[in-house]
Amino acid sequence: MSATKIIHSVPSDPLTGSISVPVYQTSTFVQEAPGVHKGFDYARSNNPTRKALEDIVAQLEGGDAGFAFATGLAAIDSVLKLLSAGDEIVAVDDIYGGAYRLFTHVYEKLGIDVKYVDTTDVENLAHEVTSRTKLIWIESPTNPTLKVSDIEAISRIAKSVNALLVVDNTFASPIAQKPIDLGADIVIHSGTKYIGGHSDLVAGLVVTRTEELSEKIKFVQNASGGVLGPWDCFLTIRGIETLDLRFRKQCENALEVARYLEGHPLVSAVFYPGLENHKNHDIAKAQQNGLYGGIVSFVLKEDTQDAANAFVSGTQYFKLAESLGGVKSLLCHPAQMTHASIPREKRLSAGITDSLIRLSCGIEEAVDLIKDLENTFIKVSRTKEAVAF
Ligand SMILES: *Cc1c(COP(=O)(O)O)cnc(C)c1O
Repeated sequence: MSATKIIHSVPSDPLTGSISVPVYQTSTFVQEAPGVHKGFDYARSNNPTRKALEDIVAQLEGGDAGFAFATGLAAIDSVLKLLSAGDEIVAVDDIYGGAYRLFTHVYEKLGIDVKYVDTTDVENLAHEVTSRTKLIWIESPTNPTLKVSDIEAISRIAKSVNALLVVDNTFASPIAQKPIDLGADIVIHSGTKYIGGHSDLVAGLVVTRTEELSEKIKFVQNASGGVLGPWDCFLTIRGIETLDLRFRKQCENALEVARYLEGHPLVSAVFYPGLENHKNHDIAKAQQNGLYGGIVSFVLKEDTQDAANAFVSGTQYFKLAESLGGVKSLLCHPAQMTHASIPREKRLSAGITDSLIRLSCGIEEAVDLIKDLENTFIKVSRTKEAVAF
């Protein structure tokens, strides 16, 4: 979807002509007679501001319908509620930590089995699915080592066992990747990240491929009630208007930062799907529209938590915080922050070593971001020399 189409998918208000979508801050809607209304009866079931956002997101992902939830995890939760006890999920092994917690500590208890596999290896995945598999759950690229899975090939495996393919498209954004075009049945987003884009809200989105799935998610959304409020719907719509512009700039910045880090003597590894030497570069290139996202992870030569601590505490523009995808650059230390709940051995085997640092590039000038990193490398190596004396 072009930037023009995205911007003009935001409707003017049919009632007043207001060019921005009004915030319908209301809990209920006056009816002419019982059951006779303008399509809205109670704000959990439907709200005009939310409906505008949901329609925009459905177009953005090329699906049948969109659904807005209070957070990304509430969106994920709504999809899991399609399952019954005895069903099985086959999920990407380095899944988002919050999704892992929900799957294993909430849904396994209710009789849903979850198997974690390396979905970058399609043959391996084909061996792991069974007739009980009801969902294949992938993220691509993943967090924080940016592994990329072949969505089209995986959709064929899902079809072969009648499972639904769900793609968490948060890291690619709809600008880089259209999972439904590649065969996915459901797309989810943490709207908190690129789609909102300003680090000023939490939100979750679901987009469904078919009317049948739309009806099921709509039912769960109303039955469970984890909807996004009208004000946050408004902010999310405003974020979407500049999504294309922001995301492209973030990708440009990230590629320059990744190239800079790759050549740095104090860095031992850089993870960025846009680099030719990234393990999954070819598939990323084929399915991501030449856009590789704003996230870059790297490992320090001195692979210790202390070294990482010194680095992440020393930057000027990259602010130390969890989350990603906003206009301001952020950095974090997964071993102590986003992935702290994962046992060290498991973390290491997923490639998240002690000094791995994750950058989320914002829309500042690349030259300033690189200077910030360069200054930090100088600062930490000076401190080290001083300590050595
Ligand atoms: C942040 C995130 C989520 C969870 O979203 P919240 O809005 O924080 O609930 C899910 N998946 C991915 C890939 C994320 O980065």
